[in-house]
Amino acid sequence: MSALFLKTPLALAVSASLFWSVAALAAVPSERDVLPAGASPQLYQLTIDPDLQKLSFQGELTLDFTASQTLNELVLNALDLTIIDASIDGNKVDTEVVAATQRVHFKTPVSPGKHQLRVRYHGKIYEQSAGLFVTDYSKPDGSTGRMLSSQFEPGDARKLAPMWDEPAHKAVFKISIIEPKNQLALSNMPEQRRQLLPDGRARVDFAPSVKMSSYLLYVGAGDYERISGRSGGIEHGVVAKKGDAVKGAFALNASYQLLDYYNDYFGVQYPLPKLDHIAVPGAGGFGAMENWGAVMYFEGTLLLDPQFSNTSDKQEVFAVVGHEMAHQWFGNIVTMQWWDDLWLNEGFASWMESKASQHFYPQWHAELGAVGSRNYAMFQDAQETSHPIVQPVRNLEEANAAFDGITYSKGLSVITMLEAYLGEEAFRAGVRAYMQKHQYGNTVTSNLWQALAQASGRPVETIAQDFTNQMGVPLITALRAECQQGNTTLTLTQSRFGLDAASKQAQQWTVPVTAQVTGQAAARAEIRGDAPQTMTLPGCGAVTVNAGQTGYYRVDYSDTLFADVVKAFAQLPAVDQLGLLKDSVALGYAGYSDISRYLALTQQLPVEANPIISTDVVQQLEGFTDLYRGLPGEQAYKAFALKKAQALFAKVGWEKQAGESDNTSILRSSLIGVLAELGDQTVISEARKRFAASQTDKNVLPGDLYGVVLKIVGAQATAADFAQLKTLAANTSNSTEKRRLLGALASAKDAALAKQALALLLTDLTPKQFGPGLLNRVALEHTQLAYEFYLANQAAFDERLDPLRRDGFDASLLGSARDVATANLLRQKAAAAKTKPVKTAYLEAAAGIERRLDRVKRIPAQVDAWLKTQQL
Ligand SMILES: [Zn+2]
Repeated sequence: MSALFLKTPLALAVSASLFWSVAALAAVPSERDVLPAGASPQLYQLTIDPDLQKLSFQGELTLDFTASQTLNELVLNALDLTIIDASIDGNKVDTEVVAATQRVHFKTPVSPGKHQLRVRYHGKIYEQSAGLFVTDYSKPDGSTGRMLSSQFEPGDARKLAPMWDEPAHKAVFKISIIEPKNQLALSNMPEQRRQLLPDGRARVDFAPSVKMSSYLLYVGAGDYERISGRSGGIEHGVVAKKGDAVKGAFALNASYQLLDYYNDYFGVQYPLPKLDHIAVPGAGGFGAMENWGAVMYFEGTLLLDPQFSNTSDKQEVFAVVGHEMAHQWFGNIVTMQWWDDLWLNEGFASWMESKASQHFYPQWHAELGAVGSRNYAMFQDAQETSHPIVQPVRNLEEANAAFDGITYSKGLSVITMLEAYLGEEAFRAGVRAYMQKHQYGNTVTSNLWQALAQASGRPVETIAQDFTNQMGVPLITALRAECQQGNTTLTLTQSRFGLDAASKQAQQWTVPVTAQVTGQAAARAEIRGDAPQTMTLPGCGAVTVNAGQTGYYRVDYSDTLFADVVKAFAQLPAVDQLGLLKDSVALGYAGYSDISRYLALTQQLPVEANPIISTDVVQQLEGFTDLYRGLPGEQAYKAFALKKAQALFAKVGWEKQAGESDNTSILRSSLIGVLAELGDQTVISEARKRFAASQTDKNVLPGDLYGVVLKIVGAQATAADFAQLKTLAANTSNSTEKRRLLGALASAKDAALAKQALALLLTDLTPKQFGPGLLNRVALEHTQLAYEFYLANQAAFDERLDPLRRDGFDASLLGSARDVATANLLRQKAAAAKTKPVKTAYLEAAAGIERRLDRVKRIPAQVDAWLKTQQL
């Protein structure tokens, strides 16, 4: 999946043999909620007859399975299914569906050997994205359309049919769908046969799948159109609601590019005859899902609208398509044995999306995005609520919670580090060997380490295990650098970077460190233990530790070494500039050093710096204003930040310049947004003027400016503006425009308008799945109002949230608060929480508020002191 924002034995002999599942399951930790051992599936033949209005379906399953031992009864996963009748080998059997365990018991003894189970049943269609679900959308003629889609990861395929709904139980699936009238049915495989039924509908049989895990199934239908083309020996398609498929042209081209790139990278060919990218209206707790051959995206992550989408949307589309397509190999062809190793899927796909972006669009500088992802991972990993990348997962709730920053972003960062450590070619050779050896099978993390070690001839396991089996962030401190005969002897120590006391406990890693004297060759060393260690670098001068920023650790410097870095800052590669900036903010926020270090670096940043770095700096400078709210130095600080942003904006301006880079467009919209937040009245009135003019001439507001201008108009809205935005939202059938307009309404700073915005969330104006996200948007500025609205309408919001997001949803609302009382309330809720993921959500939200309060006490004073030293 792609977020919105992831052991043991030697290679398992993966085959359809009777003994495999027994051998594998024998090693399963007893606390895992898995089906009893002794039987495994071979072929599911499944017919689904959906009724999109009644929100139900009829299912017919014929399942070929093999028992490896005598069973008292056959037990499969099932949830919300009503069994009509069932038989095994033609003999009727009694059944019992147990909701608490999400299982169905077929009550008859089963002898060793091959068997066939047949079941007729009813199931439910939902309005949240877990299981089979519908989404509604506005059509250009004003009517409402409804589509069917599905989402089964981690464990909702059991709502589609009785099955072994665990990743290790791979089987062949043959899906048939009774196609609703005037809709197009979709599944993982291409259509094989179509029969017209007496009632005018059609029965569509899809070709049998390859051997795959149940969570990768896809069943959908809608008033779709498809653009497609052949490339790399397969058919690629983008499927979207009628009239929108053309907006998938960029994604379709990305699909062509990425297929060739991945076929080569992985050394195993994509095995299906087609690959569809399906744009589904609405939203959920994720952006996209890698169903094999039928990747599903909420349309905002796949389609680009020339009028309303901007350059960063385009970069995100490429990244998401790159992510989901990487899963077609890493996840689909080779799958983790169980959710403990989810990071094998998600960390790898996240890393690959960045690598593919760097390959095809080097000018986008995805390596800088990877530094941002690492920073995000370290933020989560420096708290006591973090967890190791490889973690014990007992049940679906924990599996669902595992889709977090550690799994995705720490996963991608650790892989980045290992690739840099082994070298690009040796790393790829290891990945190819791993893919070849385990195709159509399941693995644990150590299988990957073995393949990498074999291919590279280097002992990668020690480093890999240190970073995947223990949580936390190493802190490498550069103590001194001595120049001797043209070389530098650098002395380093290791400790642990933490945001709370528990995370500062002593801990060690084997850390592969790269360090470099500016302009000289980099040197490498492995830092172990906590005693000071030295390494020798060619040349003398300012030293950058973690040069190239491929290491997963923070870097602190002695005052002397940091002063040298500041002087050399403008000459450093962009990636090191960004790494230094991120480390300086993090160390300053956490109290390791003074925030003036960060400000000193920003003063050295040239106006022509990489636009991504300038974007990051202006956003951070604006971020400090949140800590200043109501403090005496607020105006003086804002004036300083405003001056910095204005200096950059003077170069970039409102109008796109001929030949400018894509990242400059992103900087422009970011600057406009920051300037408005800092109160730049010229920018605010220009934004309003352009928005007003765009009502009669759409061309005055290109896609790159639309989002930020609308955000300003929404945030600063008067009652008349608000009414106008509301009318526009009600009248458009363009889903990108509607989504942006609803976002603008939810951003109003005025409390009375925020109340009106809340009331809109539960009306027909707001498509159901957008309600929770927009509520979060309102909470950013009006936390208490949003929370009270949520409490008063909890049942309605529960109806709009995926089941696994319901408990603890208010943590995301209350986390925007700024007071001790709310932090205490969150701690009380954590104490009362019934599950670990919910408890963690409350604790993280409480800690976030407490951290902010602590920063308010320290950071503005440090900034004020620094400002006094500057001739500004
Ligand atoms: Zn993913």
